[in-house]
Amino acid sequence: MMEEPSDSQEFEELWFHNLVEVDDSSWKSSRFIPEDLQSVPYEALLGDYLQPQPSSSPPSSSTVPVSSDYPGDHDFTLHFQESSTAKSVTCTYSPELNKLYCQLAKTCPVLIAVGTSPPPGALLRATAIYKKSEHVAEVVRCCPHHERSNDSSEGPAPPGHLLRVEGNTRAVYQEDAITFRHSVVVPYEPPQVGSECITVLYNYMCNSSCMGGMSRRPILTIIALETHDGHLLGRRSFEVRVCACPGRDRKTEENNYRKQQEAKTSGDKTLSKRSIKDSSSRPDSSKKSKHNNSDEELYTLQVRGKERYEFLKKINDGLELSDMVPPADAEKYRQKFLSKSSRKEKDGAAPEPKRGKKRLLKEEKSDSD
Ligand SMILES: [Zn+2]
Repeated sequence: MMEEPSDSQEFEELWFHNLVEVDDSSWKSSRFIPEDLQSVPYEALLGDYLQPQPSSSPPSSSTVPVSSDYPGDHDFTLHFQESSTAKSVTCTYSPELNKLYCQLAKTCPVLIAVGTSPPPGALLRATAIYKKSEHVAEVVRCCPHHERSNDSSEGPAPPGHLLRVEGNTRAVYQEDAITFRHSVVVPYEPPQVGSECITVLYNYMCNSSCMGGMSRRPILTIIALETHDGHLLGRRSFEVRVCACPGRDRKTEENNYRKQQEAKTSGDKTLSKRSIKDSSSRPDSSKKSKHNNSDEELYTLQVRGKERYEFLKKINDGLELSDMVPPADAEKYRQKFLSKSSRKEKDGAAPEPKRGKKRLLKEEKSDSD
């Protein structure tokens, strides 16, 4: 399956589509092949690059893609330009949330750095996946509307692909033969003299909210550093939201996140408050559970004699009433009742028996005398 010639033919077509009007000599020039690779025969390099990936270990072929960070031996890292949350901003990154907010089809520069150079022919592969486990098996693609309207005349990007690379004629778009996942691949090129990072410009071609596409499901972008034959060297990921107001949404989500963190750290106080609230709101649920049982059923009791009937009716009325009163209120009534009865004791009956007792004691005393 992996040796299918049609696959490599397709790659070759894509590849050469990028190189239209570029003659052989400029292809071999340093414009396309980094200096340290110029000693490698370019046909060999190209041949490897165009080989379909072996199915043994390529990261893109696993059905559930891995998104965890893996710096690898080359200390692979991603960086983002500092940006504000101003209304006008079209692309902004939140370090707090590791989340990129951008507008549809706008330039998103991702800075890529390595500690030590990867082997010649290394590639950078970008893939989008759904963040939540219940959606992760589904391939991330553009909604039907944007698939139709995405202008693919500018480059080789297939219209259904969410992720595009801007300004790089060597970008190759792939659809995995097994998982059908989309990815866009660019050759890793060492940074220019004086800079530590290389920059890849990504575009997202559909909104996060688009129905029939992402449908408000959060996505991650995984950027992997791979060898030319698909072995993983490093991997990093970040969340992405494609929206109309990246600045506003970043601000809102960062504020929500901070509130959550505050709530977590204020810990016990909030927790005990909440548990009190819970207990006061529980009566409904406890009542429900009571009434869900056979307790909702009505029984008839035959009672002999009016007096006994009135007595049992009072008890039943009391039980019915106490069912209707939430426990918190019942507790209040109980307190009121207790304080009332103790006041009664003090006000009226209590002093009397004291006197009586005394009198009784006196009388007893006098009796005994
Ligand atoms: Zn869309």
